[in-house]
Amino acid sequence: MKIDIRDFRVAPGGKFRLGKWPTRVKPFYGSEEEYHRRLEDGIGELDERQKVLYASNQFAVLLVFQAMDAAGKDSAIRHVMSGINPQGCHVSSFKQPSAEELEHDFLWRTQMRLPERGMIGIFNRSYYEEVIVVRVHPELLLHQGVEPRAHEAKGFWKDRFRSINDSESHLHRNGTRILKFFLHVSKEEQRKRLLARIEEPEKNWKFSMADLEERKRWNDYMDAYEDCLAATSTEYAPWYAVPADDKKNARLIISRIVCETLKDLKLKYPVLPKDKRAELDEIRALLKK
Ligand code: ATP
Ligand code: MG
Repeated sequence: MKIDIRDFRVAPGGKFRLGKWPTRVKPFYGSEEEYHRRLEDGIGELDERQKVLYASNQFAVLLVFQAMDAAGKDSAIRHVMSGINPQGCHVSSFKQPSAEELEHDFLWRTQMRLPERGMIGIFNRSYYEEVIVVRVHPELLLHQGVEPRAHEAKGFWKDRFRSINDSESHLHRNGTRILKFFLHVSKEEQRKRLLARIEEPEKNWKFSMADLEERKRWNDYMDAYEDCLAATSTEYAPWYAVPADDKKNARLIISRIVCETLKDLKLKYPVLPKDKRAELDEIRALLKK
């Protein structure tokens, strides 16, 4: 079955209901074998497209991943990007900001990790945490030099969305193509995965009490995500809300979205001008002697 990536794209324009968005859709694979074949195909295609991206040196690509805990961000990144030349791609993970980072505006720390032309940059969490976790826990703003209760003012979060949209629009104009993925997992599926982290010894290291605390605020997170995706899915930097209760299916969908976006750039390997070509012909003749 063909994956139509438009099915997962959050339409720009501010209307988005996360509660109505599926966390599971009919699988795009009929068997384990078919899953592996499709994933391998995607990995091969991505590798090819990344090579042209690098050679043409015109665009950078930024992939942003956001999700609740245990939604499968890390493994999606690992699987989908596994075939790419490590020199063409880098992953940055953003956790609680450091004291130095907190001294700057909220976009600062991620700016330094943006991919250069020819590269794919991946953000495992991102500046979007500033309108998600910080919105659920506004006390975090006190470390950012923001007046107490400033966030209660009408427009506080709107201003942050605007800063994000302005920044992404600027990046787009300057050759960075941005794709954002929200891995949409259900509360029940998260429960199972957290339980597995306790029950399976090799997963114990992943378990964190903090995840349980945040789980209690599930509805607040969903509200924050809904508002955020509605306000920041744009033509130039779309959000894709990927049903993530089935990890394999989510990986196939993400892989398709990345491949098709790269394909739309219609990149070509650089063609040498005639005189350079002639020069190469001379050198070839020399080398062949
Ligand atoms: P894992 O899948 O391994 O749990 P993770 O991305 O959840 O990966 P953690 O170290 O568990 O990594 O958690 C990082 C935490 O940092 C998250 O709870 C996230 O909300 C928080 N965080 C990220 N950015 C910010 C920010 N700007 N302000 C406050 N907290 C942040
Ligand atoms: Mg975590």
